[in-house]
Amino acid sequence: MSCLFCKIIEGSIPSTAVHQDDLSYAFADIDPKAPVHVLIAPREHISSLAEMNAGHREVLGHLLLTAAEIARKKGLGKGYRIVVNTGGDGGQSVDHLHVHLLGGRAMNWPPG
Ligand code: AMP
Ligand code: ZN
Repeated sequence: MSCLFCKIIEGSIPSTAVHQDDLSYAFADIDPKAPVHVLIAPREHISSLAEMNAGHREVLGHLLLTAAEIARKKGLGKGYRIVVNTGGDGGQSVDHLHVHLLGGRAMNWPPG
């Protein structure tokens, strides 16, 4: 299996775990773009948001709820940014669905 995030989830590539459960694995981004930068990925290999269908409702909801829970635990009461880069134009560089949780500084809008 060649997927980087599948290897991280199974433990063959090291990562700094932030949260784990039956459906998801959350870990620190290796190149953080904010004081808090966590990636929340489904354990199941799904390549991107564009591949999701109604059968993925539970896991997709779970990823967002998990992101909000991590934000609470990290003390991001002033706010945070959730990003799901999708496809080439969306800036997706790893083809395993993941939610970015960014916080600890004020974010800009619009994004680049
Ligand atoms: P995206 O560009 O939205 O696909 O996000 C991929 C993210 O994965 C980037 O923010 C990278 O910094 C991050 N990343 C790449 N390799 C690793 C790794 N080995 N461990 C943790 N994060 C990584
Ligand atoms: Zn994968």
